[in-house]
Amino acid sequence: MTESDGPFGENTRPSGVERVAQVQLSTEYGVFRAVGYLDCIRGDEQVALVYGDIQGDRALTRVHSECLTGDAFGSRHCECGDQLSAALRAIVSEGRGVLIYLQGHEGRGIGLLAKLRAMQLQAEGLDTVEANLALGLPVDARDYRVAADMLHDLGVRSVRLLSNNPRKREALVRHGIKIAEQVPLLIPPREENLAYLQAKADRLDHHLPHLNGMAERS
Ligand SMILES: [Zn+2]
Repeated sequence: MTESDGPFGENTRPSGVERVAQVQLSTEYGVFRAVGYLDCIRGDEQVALVYGDIQGDRALTRVHSECLTGDAFGSRHCECGDQLSAALRAIVSEGRGVLIYLQGHEGRGIGLLAKLRAMQLQAEGLDTVEANLALGLPVDARDYRVAADMLHDLGVRSVRLLSNNPRKREALVRHGIKIAEQVPLLIPPREENLAYLQAKADRLDHHLPHLNGMAERS
């Protein structure tokens, strides 16, 4: 699927997802509604965690890229796990919101094994961008069409997007999602991930103002 909405226009295009299951999911953060989707175009299985009534405007929204090492293992190489829990906490404290957890986004879309190989290269001194390129892989291969389809299906008209990544915001806009506001999701850096975060700020335009000067001081 291209970035273009083709002849359909952004509001009338056919949905690429099928809602397959809904179940109450009690978590340490609160009680969510897990809504399972089949991505009819790629065949992937995806899930949205919905809290409260998100229909209409300005739902607090996190579109989270899968990161097994960060999300499940608590890896300190990246800040994904901390961002996942911070986003779920923010949604619950807001009283309404949604987290879309995107499978297939490991290593900015290069896959788990390639991500592990890229991490190996980063341990040898390359930054996160150089590592992907050294493997002959794209710097960022993520596609957000399925997230936009899920938000449309859930009745979300506009979002307050929990993200530091301008490219994610632009991609969602291209897929017809209205961004009412971009809400920073800043995680205090750790010694182990400071260089990685600095590379995301310097090379991938992530807005991480809390890093200013930290690399020089460390
Ligand atoms: Zn990660």
